[in-house]
Amino acid sequence: MIIRAGTVVTMDGLPIDNGAVAVSGSRITNVGKFSEISATNSGEQIVDLGEQALLPGLINAHCHLDYTCLRGKIPPPKSFTEWIQAINAEKANLSPENYIGSINDGFAEATRFGTTTIANLTAFPELVSRIQAPIRAWWFAELIDVRDPSRANEIVDAAVETLKSAEHWGLAPHAPFTASANLYRRCEEVARLENALLTTHLAESSEEMSMFRDASGTLYDFLKEIGRDMSDCGVQTPVARFLEILGRGGSPNRPRAIEVNRPYLLVHLNELGESDFDLLGRAARKFSIVHCPRSHAYFGHSPFQFHKLRKAGLNICLGTDSLASNDDLSLFAEMRAFQKEFPKLPPDEIFRMVTLNPALALAKPHVLGRIGKNCWADLIAVPITGSTSAFEEIVAFDRVVSWLMINGQVQNPG
Ligand SMILES: [Zn+2]
Repeated sequence: MIIRAGTVVTMDGLPIDNGAVAVSGSRITNVGKFSEISATNSGEQIVDLGEQALLPGLINAHCHLDYTCLRGKIPPPKSFTEWIQAINAEKANLSPENYIGSINDGFAEATRFGTTTIANLTAFPELVSRIQAPIRAWWFAELIDVRDPSRANEIVDAAVETLKSAEHWGLAPHAPFTASANLYRRCEEVARLENALLTTHLAESSEEMSMFRDASGTLYDFLKEIGRDMSDCGVQTPVARFLEILGRGGSPNRPRAIEVNRPYLLVHLNELGESDFDLLGRAARKFSIVHCPRSHAYFGHSPFQFHKLRKAGLNICLGTDSLASNDDLSLFAEMRAFQKEFPKLPPDEIFRMVTLNPALALAKPHVLGRIGKNCWADLIAVPITGSTSAFEEIVAFDRVVSWLMINGQVQNPG
């Protein structure tokens, strides 16, 4: 099949005017000018998308489809701790069937907005085998042992057993305040053995900073009350604590080269101390960061330190987070929200944060997030007028996509 479009955005070099992509099976076999592609693939079926921009499908680097049904249920809280308590209260009313419905609704919504790959955290890995993901999904089991740290290994191993039915999976120790050091270490061990990915929430709120650095604040009080061992508090920042757990010398007083065994998608990094940038920079090769602009705004966190993190060499991606702290699952809306925060950043760089950068974070830079020979045929189309640069129009796009292909199959975006 040949797909022709007024503009083809490959992510390698400039967009191609009057371009085309040849697709065979689940892969892209060629991309270039329509005249060249149609000449070398004569007899192939041609799908002409007209004056639209054909793009690589978008990649959501962080979300929790479990909570799609909580859209609008929790008003912006006064504190992060208050939000945790509110979502726990909502979750008490949900059944496995509710979660399955929620995840399926989330997939459908993400698809409408042109997302063709999703890094999805689920607190219920046992449900994964009951769900047919319509798009490419990395399933991360979200793991918490705060109430029973003696069961860390058991919790990780049980999740891994249920996840192995998924094509792509990984592990998500929830955060250093809810997952023990042993749970983190077990996850890293399993990830190494199984070649799986890792993700975790880190330095999300000012209360997490107060807890680890100062042994105080509402999150500290709440977790102490439920019986968490607080002996790791009052010493260092959450980032330093996380690196210490990985056992690579995270303390600013003991600086040494940080070797991280496995790539990690670090989610949020909203609240950082000056020394954290240096610590992160020394392990930058293995770290990707996921920023969730609208969830960030909902909580009112400190301004995201994009420039410092980029300077430290980190691979920065965008995610939606869950609908318990966001309005919808549109990555176009995340790009626009990010652009509002950083209006001087070229729009093509923002677009890389939902294509090339997350493809690298998911360890698939050669087949995902771009349009090139042998890449997976995950493509979307959006109308553009040509009145300004293609990337500017793409970032400004605020509807559902008109056309979508996943794994070489044309889908109805719904
Ligand atoms: Zn999250």
